[in-house]
Amino acid sequence: MTFNLTGVNPVTSGNNAEIEQVKVLIIGSGPAGLGAAIYAARADLNPVVLAGMELGGQVSLTYLVENYPGFPEGVGGTELVELFQKQAEKFGGRIEFDSATEVKLNQRPFEVVTYNKVYKAETLIIATGASSLHLNIPGEKEFTGKGVSYCATCDGWFFKDKEVIVVGGGDSALEEGIFLTRYAKTVTIVHRRDALRAGPILQKRAKENPKIKFIFNTVLTEIIGEDSVKEVKLKNVLTGDESKQAVDGVFVFIGHAPNTQIFEGQLEMDAGKYIITDRLMQTNVEGVFAAGEAADPTYRQVITSAGMGAAAAMRAIHYLQEHAPQPQMELPRTTALHNK
Ligand code: NAP
Repeated sequence: MTFNLTGVNPVTSGNNAEIEQVKVLIIGSGPAGLGAAIYAARADLNPVVLAGMELGGQVSLTYLVENYPGFPEGVGGTELVELFQKQAEKFGGRIEFDSATEVKLNQRPFEVVTYNKVYKAETLIIATGASSLHLNIPGEKEFTGKGVSYCATCDGWFFKDKEVIVVGGGDSALEEGIFLTRYAKTVTIVHRRDALRAGPILQKRAKENPKIKFIFNTVLTEIIGEDSVKEVKLKNVLTGDESKQAVDGVFVFIGHAPNTQIFEGQLEMDAGKYIITDRLMQTNVEGVFAAGEAADPTYRQVITSAGMGAAAAMRAIHYLQEHAPQPQMELPRTTALHNK
């Protein structure tokens, strides 16, 4: 489900924007956000989830999730997210197709400005996830949507009987590359090293798939086309040899970066801009919790993100029991993390 915000200006706090007081505000609607929503809703806290423009985050772009417990035959990413949503709403959670544009964490209740209103939240759960990394090579931006894609489930259909390249050597590259063989004539996986990072099951499946070819020790240096992608320039990183290959599509799966920009300067982050939490999902600001890929550079699975969301909600529930609502007050800038 999408919500087009193009042309909509965010409200700015201080004008006549509608203000809503909430006990638990969850930013993000992937497994972490919806996992948190289910737990907070079941504690009768009527959490509000800012879903962004699309419900579900990255998993909703996944054709089949095969490693989430309870679904031995696998479950579609979109279907799984819809089940999470249904479960959260059943207990009183509310999903808003709206995005946070500004946060003020130096006051309680915390203030979150969105395109539609201003939320005053007693607790905040940040579950903003991560976004695909780009190659940053000539032609990539120009041909995005015209042959360059970051989502096989969304765009694979357009490449029926075509030649495509997949860039990357991790689980995403292989999983999505295998998915693309449903449509494409050939899928060439271009990886910058000679060893794949992906797990053994996916490696075996990809290597056994007759439509998949591999080019190792090689990077793309340019994407070339006219109305759409026609060819790519390749460079062997060991020999320096350059070559061109005709292709119809380039799918890029080279990892992710956390969506944490609006919290910069207010929350502690590591060098990769992942939010730092203690083992109770607490950030350096008391009452602000983080879960899922915004805070997790290590596991990044549906099950771990949903689990972190549940844990963050349980701590938010505990926090609300310990801290009665306060009139608006300034907070000290940071609170030291504990139990790290
Ligand atoms: P990833 O594991 O970080 O792999 C990224 C791949 O892209 C690596 O092979 C990396 O090469 C390559 N790469 C990075 N930057 C590059 C660049 N500038 N140019 C060319 N290649 C580049 O990312 P991911 O595959 O998206 O997976 C993310 C997480 O999700 C992982 O924890 C993964 O296990 C998980 N995941 C799991 C499943 C599943 O269980 N079915 C499916 C998808 C994802 P190097 O190897 O040389 O670093």
